[in-house]
Amino acid sequence: MTASTDRRSLFKLGLAGAAATLAAPQIMTRAASAQQAAAPLASDAFSRFTLGDFEITVVNDGARTVPEPQSIFGTDQSAETVGALLEDNFLPAERMQLGFAPTAVRTGSEVVLFDTGNGEGGREGGVGRTRERLAGAGIAPEDVTLVVLTHFHPDHIGGMTEGGEPAFPNARYAAGRAEYDFWLDAARAGTPAENGHQLAKQTVEPFAEAMTFVEDGGTVLPGITAMAAFGHTPGHMIFMLESGGRPLLLTADTANHFVLSLQRPDWEVRFDMDKAAAAATRKRVFDMVAAERMPFIGYHMPFPAAGYIETLDTGYRFVPESYQFDL
Ligand SMILES: [Zn+2]
Repeated sequence: MTASTDRRSLFKLGLAGAAATLAAPQIMTRAASAQQAAAPLASDAFSRFTLGDFEITVVNDGARTVPEPQSIFGTDQSAETVGALLEDNFLPAERMQLGFAPTAVRTGSEVVLFDTGNGEGGREGGVGRTRERLAGAGIAPEDVTLVVLTHFHPDHIGGMTEGGEPAFPNARYAAGRAEYDFWLDAARAGTPAENGHQLAKQTVEPFAEAMTFVEDGGTVLPGITAMAAFGHTPGHMIFMLESGGRPLLLTADTANHFVLSLQRPDWEVRFDMDKAAAAATRKRVFDMVAAERMPFIGYHMPFPAAGYIETLDTGYRFVPESYQFDL
C-alpha cells in the first residue's frame, strides 16, 4: 500500500469501472425480462440465483496462484501424498489457485454482504475486487445495509475500508462475539496472533459501535442464523440461510480447498489455528450438509463457489452447483 492519493485514485477507478459495467447495452436488453430490473444475471465476476425470496449474489474477489500446496494443506503428510491426491483429481501438484467468494443476499428489506474480500491491499495481486464487482452486479456500495464477518482473517476483512473511508458507508455490521474478543484483546500482542490483532484494530475496531455480536444459534435477520464453527479461528462463524423453505449454508472457511480439505478433512491445514478443532468442525458441518443434501457456498471453493457434498469413505466430494437454482 502506498500513499493515500493512490488509494483514492484506485477508489475512483473502481467506481468508474462499475458505472461503465452498469451502462453496458446487453444489460439493458436483459433487464426487459429480468425480475430485478437493471440487475445483470451473471458474469465471470459474479453469479446470481434465487433462494425462496432471497436473491443471492456470489462475488468473485479474484484468485491467487500459490506454490507448494503441501506447505498449506496436509502439513502432517508427505509432499508426495498431497501431490498424489491432487494429481488423482486432475490438479497440478506443484501449484494451486485459491479464490475468494464473498456473498451478498438481498432479503427484500436488506442487502447483506458476508465478508468483504481482500480489499485494496490485495489489488496489486489481482484480488480485492469485491466492491467493484458488486457494483457491476447492480449492488452499489451505498446499497449494502449489513456487513457480516465470518472471521477476521485479512482475505475477509480487507475490504472493510477503501481509501481510508468505510467501503460500505450505509452498513451496520455483525460478527462473532468470540472472534471479536479474541482478536481485539491486547493480550495478543507479542504472540503469533499479533499481526492479526493489529489488522483487526485497524480494520474492524473502528466499526465496533455499529456492530452487533452474534453467538451460536443467534438470528442475524429473519432467515439468517449464525452457527459456531470454531477451529479455523477461535470464533469462526458460519451462516444458515433459509427462505421459502429452502436452506443454503455459507460455510466460510470450514474447508479451504475443494479437494484437499474435503476429501481429507483430517489433514492439517496451516491456516487452521486450532487444527484438531478445525478438523472436528469440518466433519460436523459437512456431515450435516451431506445428510441434508443441502447446497452450500464455501468462500474458497472454485468460483462460483456453490455446490453440494457427497460422502466418500475418506471424507467428501465437492459437487459443483450447475442449474439446480435455475429450475
Ligand atoms: Zn479465507
